[in-house]
Amino acid sequence: MPENIAPLPDFTRWPSFPFEGDMRVKPLAAPVEVEPPRSGEDAADCIACGTSDDAYIWISERWRVRAMDRPTGLPMVLILECRSHLDLGDLPNLLAAELGVMTVRLERAIRSLDGVARVHVNRWGDGSAHLHMWFLARPYGRLQLRGTFLSLWDDILPVIPEHQWRENLALVAAWLAEFGGKAIAEPAHIEWASPSTITFAMAAEPVDDARRPATLGDVEATKAPAVEAPPKTIAAESGATPPPAENGTPARPKGDTQNHAAPQPEPTAHP
Ligand SMILES: [Zn+2]
Repeated sequence: MPENIAPLPDFTRWPSFPFEGDMRVKPLAAPVEVEPPRSGEDAADCIACGTSDDAYIWISERWRVRAMDRPTGLPMVLILECRSHLDLGDLPNLLAAELGVMTVRLERAIRSLDGVARVHVNRWGDGSAHLHMWFLARPYGRLQLRGTFLSLWDDILPVIPEHQWRENLALVAAWLAEFGGKAIAEPAHIEWASPSTITFAMAAEPVDDARRPATLGDVEATKAPAVEAPPKTIAAESGATPPPAENGTPARPKGDTQNHAAPQPEPTAHP
């Protein structure tokens, strides 16, 4: 094997690059003649199409939002899906227009959460054929996480507390429901006596745990079929979250005017 002498790209020296030490560029594999089908290329085998509404945190007539099956390093990672078995470039005008509205709405909902400075929106589409847009929240103050490596940091940072994650899911779901649709995620119920496991998003059929992604990195790094099964159960740490508002519904997220993300200079992540 010839020695790989490709120079390291500049981004390995950016402050946001998560790794240090001796590295080298991988040899480039030969291109394939015909690419293999993605997961769920056929609607009959599509995990998104086959997953019931209760696996999502919010649903509407044409759109659904889901979370990972457990907390990860970032304060919030969500996926927006259309109900129709379509990819981005196949959306008819109605859905294309609604995608814009939903993207803005979801970005605002996540950005309103405590401790969130910025929300990055991504669509890759190499894993599953069914359109799925990623929303990644960057923790406030963590300037080192700015920019394109945020999805890598999601796998590196300490996992956020589960009660906080559940509370944030409920807040985002409630925010979205203010504009229509139905919130599925609910705030954790207080159980003073003992810890409990709350199930709010049971999949219609048992899902093999080994095939379910725990983090964004699991999904995007694994190109095997069926890598994007939905969330199933959420273990809750009881008594760790505040009770619901007096009307029994989750408190609304803070409005933008109250947000810490007041107008400020756009940080430059890339030198
Ligand atoms: Zn589908």
